[in-house]
Amino acid sequence: MEDSVSAAKKIIASYHGPALRIMEVCGTHTHEIMRLGIRRLLPENVKLISGPGCPVCVTPVGYIDEAVLLALKHNAVICTFGDLIRVPGSEMDLAGARRRGAEVRMVYSPLDSEEYAKAHPEKEVVFLAVGFETTTPAACLAVKKAVKDGLHNYSLLVANKTMPNAYLALKGSADAFLYPGHVCAITGTAVCESLVKQGISGVVAGFTASELLAAIAVILKLSEAEKPFFRNCYPRVVKPEGNAAAQALMREIMEPCDTEWRGLGIIKGSGLHLREPYRTFDASRRYSLPKITGRSNPLCRCGEVLQGKCLPSDCKVFGTVCTPQHPAGACMVSNEGACSAYYQYGGT
Ligand code: SF4
Repeated sequence: MEDSVSAAKKIIASYHGPALRIMEVCGTHTHEIMRLGIRRLLPENVKLISGPGCPVCVTPVGYIDEAVLLALKHNAVICTFGDLIRVPGSEMDLAGARRRGAEVRMVYSPLDSEEYAKAHPEKEVVFLAVGFETTTPAACLAVKKAVKDGLHNYSLLVANKTMPNAYLALKGSADAFLYPGHVCAITGTAVCESLVKQGISGVVAGFTASELLAAIAVILKLSEAEKPFFRNCYPRVVKPEGNAAAQALMREIMEPCDTEWRGLGIIKGSGLHLREPYRTFDASRRYSLPKITGRSNPLCRCGEVLQGKCLPSDCKVFGTVCTPQHPAGACMVSNEGACSAYYQYGGT
């Protein structure tokens, strides 16, 4: 392994090609790159920029408002991954709703929320389903289990997203993508390969120091030819065909729809919602939720951070008004958020 790390470092250090902007599509890549100090190894003309790969960060403010409405007006028990509890809504976050008496529970898996609903038939339980292809299959499993258990008090507020059309929407934002390893493990590599024909370059990257350095070195090497390219640099996990069982499960329970991304607006066909036989588990329909257009903090630049248009440290309130203890935007809350990574590891 030492040899491959040295070889990658050598390629990176001797790069003399054109200036490059490489986008970390995945929030975990951003955190690992910051934690490992990889940015410091890059030549001056190679920049790493963050992308929209943190599911909590790309979920729009209006979704938080809908969850708060469910908790306070409809007395639903909200089950969610921990990060979402502190993402600011227009008026308050879910922690604020909890202070006003709402029941907001942190869960580690969608199946935990289904189990909770099963154990408490007297309560209405809503799971906040956000995430990409990596986490969507678990939400689909929870729906299947709810059908099997005959639950009538369980639903999902669905904001799951898929990456392919987001890559297209981001065309031109960077010279190459570091494609998200976990997502590609589910989807396979066909989409990324097909993007080469549209002039979009990238490599699938793993998460260790050697995998990240190798992926960056491959980008630098292939960029010298100045032609679009794709390589799978994470073959120990990502197979060309992806995870067929997870894909089939998602197709069975959900279908594509247009959806809103924080900062990127509505991207056609980039969302998922429940197919008709499962719509009874759709919280929006069950509670006739109005579509809420949220208002984010006017000082927050999360929308630009998520498109690589600015660095977290370019935001005027980064590290002052906005800190992990008092986040003003989603990118400072989430464990995968770029602002949180910059705060934690001191990026500029
Ligand atoms: S530092 Fe805070 S306010 Fe600024 S972009 Fe990041 S999350 Fe938003």
